[in-house]
Amino acid sequence: MKFNKVLDNIKTYEAGKPIELVVREFGIAAENVVKLASNENPIGTNPAVAEVIRENASKAHLYPDDSMFELKAALSKKYDVKDDNIIIGAGSDQVLEFISRALLDEDSSVLMSAVTFAMYEIYAKQMGAKIIRTASYEHKYDEFMEAYTMHKPKIVYLCTPNNPTGDATSKEEVLRIIEAIGKEALVVVDGAYMEYAAAKSAVYAITPSDLLGYENVIYLGTFSKAYGLGGMRVGYGIAQPSLIAELYKMRPPFNISTLSLAAAIAACKDESFVSKSITLHQEQIKRYEIFAKENRFEYIESYTNFITYLFDKTMDSTEIADALLKRGVIIRDLASYGMNAMRITIGTEKQNDIFFKQFSEVVS
Ligand code: PMP
Repeated sequence: MKFNKVLDNIKTYEAGKPIELVVREFGIAAENVVKLASNENPIGTNPAVAEVIRENASKAHLYPDDSMFELKAALSKKYDVKDDNIIIGAGSDQVLEFISRALLDEDSSVLMSAVTFAMYEIYAKQMGAKIIRTASYEHKYDEFMEAYTMHKPKIVYLCTPNNPTGDATSKEEVLRIIEAIGKEALVVVDGAYMEYAAAKSAVYAITPSDLLGYENVIYLGTFSKAYGLGGMRVGYGIAQPSLIAELYKMRPPFNISTLSLAAAIAACKDESFVSKSITLHQEQIKRYEIFAKENRFEYIESYTNFITYLFDKTMDSTEIADALLKRGVIIRDLASYGMNAMRITIGTEKQNDIFFKQFSEVVS
């Protein structure tokens, strides 16, 4: 059998390792495994949302409302936009897929920072498109404009805050890049972690309505992080109606489940859970900064729900990650991104205590 030749060039996305794998491979009891690898919300599922999921369990035989009227209404209210500005995806991942399929082909290219969310590359390669990266992981105007002028990409990805590095780009810089990019390219502002950045500093806060004046810009958001619904797979894109209408042509019917839809509606109406998540996060991330300083290694100032530790030659991120895994602590090694670094999702106080203890033992 001969598969599409574009597949030769694609490396499968490596998701964070599940707790079950550590239980199976290392015989560690599930309750002693700490997973800080996938930027999930450590508080757990919002109890009010869990209740709604339970209430909807008897509706599993019904397809969801394909217009997603209530969810769009909740998002419209949250962001002061209209329902025809919104497309819902099975995670913002699926919206990225719609975007790539709608715009790319083998003659096109996409532009992104040196180290950023891996799915941009995978979806682009599925379409046979070329990947152009700037030199820095930060989103720098000069680097983006130089690459844009040279390659004329069809999509420009601005991931702010950026995964897996955790840094953010100011709203001013994002708008400066958007203004300078020609209307023939789509600019994707991926705000998967925006709630954390906005809570930390207004300089980095970008809302969909800041971008709605541009016909070639789409804002992406997700319920997977601050809203604690990673397992429900709900994300969204917000843009001008003409752009949304094109993306709709890529969407299969009923693309999120009845339970996911109910959960996202409930989550969207309960901002208190987001505030609680961010308060815990802000307390706990300080401990990671202090820990790095005490242990004399660098970290990237984080605007997300994770922190990236940078190591010098005396420490090897893969060796540390493997040793931690054997002790039941799952974090994300960034060696595959060409960095001697690791990304750690900020956990609960107890999870973080375990991380600090195990990390100290591993490196000593
Ligand atoms: N964008 C970024 C920057 C991400 O980190 C992620 C999740 N890791 C996504 C998009 C996709 O998130 P989801 O599909 O869960 O909405």
